[in-house]
Amino acid sequence: MYIVFLGAPGAGKGTQAATVAVELNLVHIATGDMFREAQKQETELAKQARFYMEKGELVPDEITIQMVLERIAAPDCENGVIFDGFPRTLKQAEALDEALEKQGKMIDSVVYIKVSEAELVERLGGRWICRQCQAPYHMVNSPPRTPGKCDRCGGELYQRPDDTPETVRERLRVYFAETAPLIDYYNRAGKLLEVGGEGSVDDVRERILVTLDKESVGQRE
Ligand code: AMP
Repeated sequence: MYIVFLGAPGAGKGTQAATVAVELNLVHIATGDMFREAQKQETELAKQARFYMEKGELVPDEITIQMVLERIAAPDCENGVIFDGFPRTLKQAEALDEALEKQGKMIDSVVYIKVSEAELVERLGGRWICRQCQAPYHMVNSPPRTPGKCDRCGGELYQRPDDTPETVRERLRVYFAETAPLIDYYNRAGKLLEVGGEGSVDDVRERILVTLDKESVGQRE
């Protein structure tokens, strides 16, 4: 099964994709995490990506597409993947479709997590992330048990440099201009499953699993 999680920054894609991937036994590919991971090693890819990430802009398609195509060629992706934060442009979506088609595969479903713009700004403002395992927290909605420490692995929590108010505004602008058209792209392909992203993390996860389950039952019938 190949599933794309689509939604604005702050919609909860990362949190939901990570748990749903475990639940469905799929590999979780998060391009933002891959770029942040590369920063730790100071690779050429990292340097190129940082320039764009710091401004809240998209890393150019050629760099991003090459990174993802290399990743999905790995044997662990054979049984299926949840894509989180990719594709983010029409060119990326087309490149992904083409690459999967060459392997006799395709995107089965696209989970579009819908959250109002006001809620997105509010969520991104209070977001803190674990430096080690990337688990996200919100200082008001889902604070860690010990301030500054990750509940899962004890890692240090930090605020992403691109979660500052100015960069958040730019990321949302880029989302509406570049990524939101993918809603229509996947809707026309009959693959879009819309899920309300407001409410607790558990409620949203449940909604996603029920929606995916109904879809796969529908496909079997
Ligand atoms: P995220 O963690 O998904 O919010 O991504 C953080 C940043 O990484 C984005 O603001 C972009 O600069 C970059 N990025 C992540 N995924 C992509 C992508 N699919 N295409 C281009 N840039 C990306």
